[in-house]
Amino acid sequence: MKIHHVGIAVESLEAAVPIFENLLGRGPDSEGLVADQQVRVAVFAVGESRIELLEATSPDSAIARFISKRGQGIHHLTLSVGNLAESLAQLEQQGVRLIDREPRVGAGNERIAFLHPSSTAGVLIELLEEQQVVGGGMNDEL
Ligand code: ZN
Repeated sequence: MKIHHVGIAVESLEAAVPIFENLLGRGPDSEGLVADQQVRVAVFAVGESRIELLEATSPDSAIARFISKRGQGIHHLTLSVGNLAESLAQLEQQGVRLIDREPRVGAGNERIAFLHPSSTAGVLIELLEEQQVVGGGMNDEL
């Protein structure tokens, strides 16, 4: 397992992106809109992992609800796994509460599932199935 990305809920990308630009010494690697999750995202690659800044585009977005309850901050941590269905079955057997009992397709077209924070020390954890890279190219999903 490795950390695939850390999702950070921000009130405004306009305000948050320059903070991370200063911190990392360069601009984001990509920016985009994830329409079905009602967020705008700015992605900074950091080693094998990424930092994703997430700004809500609607008050109904999970990010907007998170910020109104808890303020800005780390929203979720994503771990990549080799076989997601297998990992979920194993975790469920160990008594971990799952939000998604079956893998579903996330914004980046990858198979993902969320674990319930009540089972994971209050941290929302997303598991993501690492895609087999064919031809040596980099995946370019959010
Ligand atoms: Zn994420």
